[in-house]
This record gives sequence, structure tokens and C-alpha cells, in this order.
Amino acid sequence: MRQLIAGNWKMNMRLEDGAALAAKLRRAADGLACDVLICPPATLLLTLSATLIGSPVAIGAQDCHAKPSGAHTGDLSAPQIRDAGATYVILGHSERRADHAESDAVVHAKVQAAVAAGLTPIVCVGETEAQRLAGAQNEVVGAQLTASLPPDFQGVVAYEPVWAIGTGRTPSEADVAAMHGFIRQTLVSHLGAAGQGMRILYGGSVKPSNAASLMALPEVGGALIGGASLVAEDFLAIAHASDAVARATSPR
Ligand code: PEP
Repeated sequence: MRQLIAGNWKMNMRLEDGAALAAKLRRAADGLACDVLICPPATLLLTLSATLIGSPVAIGAQDCHAKPSGAHTGDLSAPQIRDAGATYVILGHSERRADHAESDAVVHAKVQAAVAAGLTPIVCVGETEAQRLAGAQNEVVGAQLTASLPPDFQGVVAYEPVWAIGTGRTPSEADVAAMHGFIRQTLVSHLGAAGQGMRILYGGSVKPSNAASLMALPEVGGALIGGASLVAEDFLAIAHASDAVARATSPR
């Protein structure tokens, strides 16, 4: 399966610089052997989805509410996000789990809302540094997966160790491979055959200098990228690393 290279812009970019970045990506993403996605702030979804129409760059949101409509001031529903042109939505990012006290049950409800609206959810899981130091990473990630993903889940999972996000630190290649193998096993036991081909992204300080080695690891189905997705050259260098992995491994 093609890898997915996804940029999470978080609460960065306004209209002018966001449009300029999307236009650069639009021009450069043609012909890559990976899928490319940007998740800008919700205020830019409608404009950028128009900019990207007909291009290989997909657009996604960073969150949605679990209800399709109602008295939820300041929130956006999955159908509203779909109307704005998004086809993906990031759910359960560690910053939302921390800043908005999102539990696995909340993420589970949002996943169902996203799928019902025709969005592909990217569900984030990952351990804190204290949990890794205690050797509890599999227990934590396994519990997040089984509680956040409905048994008929269709979408993408992103493994994002909390301590690697925005810190410049990454787990060792062996640790990333071990965790992705564990996530694959958990997906298959939780979801059956559907868990076999599901993309598992790695996220946490992915940059041009480490992308080639991370994207070549077994069971890594792409990357979720924060900081480096805000610079066209860096994001594209990561996409090119994925493209090179795909070309090196595809049968001639
Ligand atoms: C993220 O927040 O999803 C992320 C991976 O951020 P960064 O690439 O900046 O570590």
C-alpha cells in the first residue's frame, strides 16, 4: 500500500502563508509514489480545498465533534468539515487529549461521527515518556487502540510517542519497528482481517534527515508531521524519502 505523508499544521498559518504553502505543494506533489495530505486550521479548509482541487494533495481537519449538529459553541461537526472539502480528520492527537481532556471514549465517538460523514479518521495513540521509562508503552497503546477504535473501524492509525512530538527526539528504529509490529498485531486481533492492510503512520519529530530510515521500517505506512510540515522544502523532502522507499521496494 502507498504510504501516507500527512502534515498537521496545528494552530499555525493564516490565509496568505497557508495558501502559498498549499500552492507550492500542489505543484510539487505530482507523480510521487505516496499519498500526500495537509491538515490546516479549520479556517483554511474551504479556501485550500479549492486551491488543491484536481491535485494529488488531499486535505483534512485536525478534530471534529462527535455530534452531527447541536448546541456546541465553537465546535465543528464532521459533516461541516466534509462540506468544507476535507476528506480526512485527525482524532485523538495527544495535544487534544491533554488540552481538552479527550478520553478514548470521546475519540471513539468522534471516529464514528467522522466515518458516518464520509471522512477517513487518523487516530493518534502514543505513550508519555514516564510510561515508556516504566516499560508500559505496549499496555498504554494497546488500551488506547482497543478503546478508541470501533470494531468496524476503517481508517488510519498514527503512533505518536508524546515525548517525541515537537522535541527533536525520536525512538530508536528498533523501538519504532517493535511498536508498529505490536500495533499491527493489536489491530488484527481487534478488527480481524481489516487490521491487516491498515496504514500505521509514525509521528514525532520526523524531518528530512530521519525520514528515509523511518519510512523504510517494517509496518511503517507513512508519517504524521507537525513542525516540518510548515516548510514546503522540508515536507516535500519527507515525501520524497517515502517516494524513494516505494520505488526501491516495488516490483519492477
Ligand atoms: C504532531 O504533532 O503530530 C507531530 C508529529 O509534531 P512534530 O512533527 O513537530 O513532532
